[in-house]
Amino acid sequence: MMEKKTTMGHAVSVHLRAARLLRKVSPKFFAISALYCVVSALTPYITVFFSAQILKELATARRAEILWQWVAVSVLCTGLFAVAASFLYQRKETLLDDLWGRKEILFIGKMFSMDYADLDRQQIHDLRAQIRQNENWSGWGLMRLPEVYESGLKSIIGILGGIALTVSLFTARVPASAGGLTVLNSPVFILVLAAGMVSVSMLAGACNARATACWSNAASDATMGNRLFGFFGFFGKKRERATDIRIYNQQHLVSAYWNKNASFGTDGPIGKLARGPMGIYYGLGTGITVVITGSVYVFTCLKAWAGAFDVGSITQYVGAATAMAGSIFEVTSLIGMIKTNAGYLDTAFEFLDIPGAMYQGSLTTEKRSDRKYQVEFQNVWFRYPGAEKWALKNVSMKFEVGKRLAIVGENGSGKTTFIKLLCRLYDPEEGQILLNGIDIRKYNYRDYMDVFSIVFQDFQLLSQPLGANVAGCADYDERRVRKALVDAGFGERSDTMPEGLETYLYKDFTENGVEVSGGEAQKIAIARALYKDAPFIILDEPTAALDPIAEAEIYSKFNDIAGDKTAIYISHRLSSCKFCDEIAVFHEGQVVEQGTHAALVANEHGKYHQLWNAQAQYYTE
Ligand code: ADP
Repeated sequence: MMEKKTTMGHAVSVHLRAARLLRKVSPKFFAISALYCVVSALTPYITVFFSAQILKELATARRAEILWQWVAVSVLCTGLFAVAASFLYQRKETLLDDLWGRKEILFIGKMFSMDYADLDRQQIHDLRAQIRQNENWSGWGLMRLPEVYESGLKSIIGILGGIALTVSLFTARVPASAGGLTVLNSPVFILVLAAGMVSVSMLAGACNARATACWSNAASDATMGNRLFGFFGFFGKKRERATDIRIYNQQHLVSAYWNKNASFGTDGPIGKLARGPMGIYYGLGTGITVVITGSVYVFTCLKAWAGAFDVGSITQYVGAATAMAGSIFEVTSLIGMIKTNAGYLDTAFEFLDIPGAMYQGSLTTEKRSDRKYQVEFQNVWFRYPGAEKWALKNVSMKFEVGKRLAIVGENGSGKTTFIKLLCRLYDPEEGQILLNGIDIRKYNYRDYMDVFSIVFQDFQLLSQPLGANVAGCADYDERRVRKALVDAGFGERSDTMPEGLETYLYKDFTENGVEVSGGEAQKIAIARALYKDAPFIILDEPTAALDPIAEAEIYSKFNDIAGDKTAIYISHRLSSCKFCDEIAVFHEGQVVEQGTHAALVANEHGKYHQLWNAQAQYYTE
């Protein structure tokens, strides 16, 4: 992303929005950070103030008891501030790490809750990747806010502290006996000098801001560099690639990347910026601050020379004025940083603000004890986002709940799409789906989701304990998990697991993890669907990885397990669907036939008959 031209008003408002958001997720961080800022911003002034008092006493009355008092108070205060600053710093840093995690949860939560259809859109994934890269690249985006907050607070406190300690530098009058040096008393001179110091500090800050903006100009290179790193840097980590790497010598690709990748190399665009404008601006900024310190020294020494104040005050004024100039410099740099970061925050909010169209409904689904739900598809048309071809064409279908419905058809005929619409992962483009006579869009989304248990073909198990996989949470009802596993045909196998339900699946987190076969994984996925105990249970070719005997076993068992639940099966093997009360035949996105096995197979011109005969050769009845 190139640096976005943005107005200061917008930059401030988007940062305020980010501050409100982050403050909500971790109010503690902002409170402790503010305390830390006060203590650390005042620390230099404490030192400056007490040293000045000691020097003043040394240069004038030289009273031992007063000197002792100043030394004692100075040591005590400096020590207290140092201890408090160090303690608060540690606390603040821990809270910052915690805030980082909480910020991640915001994004993860958004990813979890956004409309399923949005996950099909590449822009959404690109946007998320972009945000992550902006963060990894140089901390741009939401997590720049803690820095802005601290830097802003510190500099405001710094400026106020500096003003408090330097007012008398300007007001202390040079005696008339000083001759020409009385010009230092002139309000015009003081005004010009003060304005000059502020302007030079701001100039230094502006240089710093320009240097910071250079980072932004390199962002697109860095983004690509990060992407490549994300791919090549972890190339060897994926086990699935291990065989290909060995057989096709793919390590050459990786070494070519490391040798040629210029993004982060010294001769790459970022290296060039560091040697060129970015380095120059940073250097200029630092150089200019030296001019400020020098001017303050000259002015203060001249006034002391002319007799406006004693030598001890020189320490106070020089120290305070230099610290104040530093704070003004920081504020100016901050303005540049805020303007640059505004574009990155816009990107973050573009993602977080993606609307959730699915979440509009508010009706609660009836919790019917008789589990009598009726589902009806009325002239449903659907195309996947961005696709031209209709996946479902004018599908109308009604089915009584509590029965067994089988959905059959060739690959790509729309069976899975039908299920995805039924359980509202997508909404129809035209037509409607009714549950007990009410458009499903009117129901509360989460509530509606709870009506379904589904085992999709591409289900995923987690590298977590078996029990947690089945229950979907770490805190589960052991008895129910066991029953679900037994019902799904995984009972005996789970008894052989070394740590029972606490046995980890796969080896990602532990050497003792168990690698389960495709068929075993399917049984666990079925157990997970049974554990949810929803009124609808849908199996989308869940037995594809099972041998025909295991499949037959699951189906015959399933009929009993499903009990009064509505069960919908999608299967390639028509022989598995024979026992269903009703069979719907899909062809090219349409329901072309619906009826019992006997009725459908009898229709010699029907699709079912054709499919049945095509498969019959594989099965001896
Ligand atoms: P089936 O389950 O009968 O094999 P699907 O319902 O999966 O068929 O697919 C129906 C049609 O929709 C196919 O043409 C398929 O290519 C297309 N399709 C499925 N999923 C997507 C998707 N996520 N994006 C675009 N098209 C899809």
